Amino acid sequence: MADFEVKAYPELWKELDMDVARFDKARQMLGSAYAAMYLSQQNRPAAMAYFDNMVAEIHGGRVRELMDAKKEGRPVVGTFCVYIPEEIVVAAGGICVGLCGGSQGSIPDAEKILPRNICPMVKSAFGFKAGKICPYFQAVDFVYGETTCDAKKKTWEILDRLVPTYVMEIPQMKNKRDKVLWLEEVKGFKQKVEEVSGKKIAADDLAAAIKVINGKRGALQRLTRLRAANPAPISGKDALLLEQIAFYDEPVRFAEKVNVLCDELEQRVKRGEGVMPGDAPRVMVAGVPMALPNWKVHNLVETAGAVIVNEESCIGTRYFKDLIAENVKDMDGQLDVLTERYMRIDCSCFTPNNERIEQVVKEYRDSQAQGVLHYSLQFCHTYNVEEIRIKEACQKEKIPYLSIESDYSPEDVGQLQTRIEAFLEQIRG
Ligand code: SF4
Ligand code: SF4
Repeated sequence: MADFEVKAYPELWKELDMDVARFDKARQMLGSAYAAMYLSQQNRPAAMAYFDNMVAEIHGGRVRELMDAKKEGRPVVGTFCVYIPEEIVVAAGGICVGLCGGSQGSIPDAEKILPRNICPMVKSAFGFKAGKICPYFQAVDFVYGETTCDAKKKTWEILDRLVPTYVMEIPQMKNKRDKVLWLEEVKGFKQKVEEVSGKKIAADDLAAAIKVINGKRGALQRLTRLRAANPAPISGKDALLLEQIAFYDEPVRFAEKVNVLCDELEQRVKRGEGVMPGDAPRVMVAGVPMALPNWKVHNLVETAGAVIVNEESCIGTRYFKDLIAENVKDMDGQLDVLTERYMRIDCSCFTPNNERIEQVVKEYRDSQAQGVLHYSLQFCHTYNVEEIRIKEACQKEKIPYLSIESDYSPEDVGQLQTRIEAFLEQIRG
């Protein structure tokens, strides 16, 4: 598929007040990177065609859908973190869209304003808005920020000058009194969404939205279970792409397409057919989210002949491992179970965060992995410090382990490649 390209929508971009000439270059680069990293893979499932098309339409087709929703008065909310209760946005008829922060291209825009020595994800996301080079950022009614890490919570104050940014306070501990605060914050967020949409959310709306988002998370859980088969029926790169698309596609359609893919993968597993040979080393990635188009580590690992079988990450299992009970029918009860579900997310911003240490070992076993690759972004203090405990847990369980701290630049690729190859040798024994 050498003729693959991310489609251009210059009229739409103009309408969104974007830097069209610059963005068009980024579009071409994304298309080439995708063709090189994705379409060169052998033996991809046929149902990946839908997701290839989602990438081709990333700068137009889906954006047009958001604009149409806005014309109908439906709110479009930009997010950066899995702590946003997206069920509330969906209950108001709105759309949640994850804003990309995985590209080196927007970092120089951010560094004109923000300090250089903060996390690349924050800089990349901020740079997309500052440089007017992301149609999603231009389309949103408001951005939802949260008080998870320091880099983010202080960036919201600056971002608010460019786009309305609503900040929800996320406590850093999980005691009873934190739940009280959290629940109040969820109620405040609901009120904000109601104000923007002009629609009062009823219990029936929220029940329906919980079902929709559970459906999306459930489909991703099914995909994760299938990846535990040996040989793995799908590459880690393709699975990561799905986990990234989960943040911007329409949730019902997305779940349907993931289930179609899973049907195909089930057949592969029955036939014992894999995307790589059965003796390919199986690696689980744990750590910070890999926002689109951050495919760097997956590409390096899989190009070296291994397969990634799980992402213990927010763009991964942390986003979909927990569902919300569907049998609660009154609004207070629903908000309560919703808050409890969000409190189970084990981000390193919490202290203590024992759940995550246990979860990494559990997911390692469930995914039939043979080694853990911990991935942190530069200057992400919480994940970088928590890595000490993850390493200790892996050592205790005698799990082959590699820790990588990186950014989005290509500069460390050679060095990472050498370390990854040595790690895979260790797994191969
Ligand atoms: S790592 Fe933490 S702060 Fe970042 S998206 Fe996940 S939950 Fe949010
Ligand atoms: S990777 Fe770390 S520093 Fe970066 S946004 Fe997430 S929690 Fe904050």
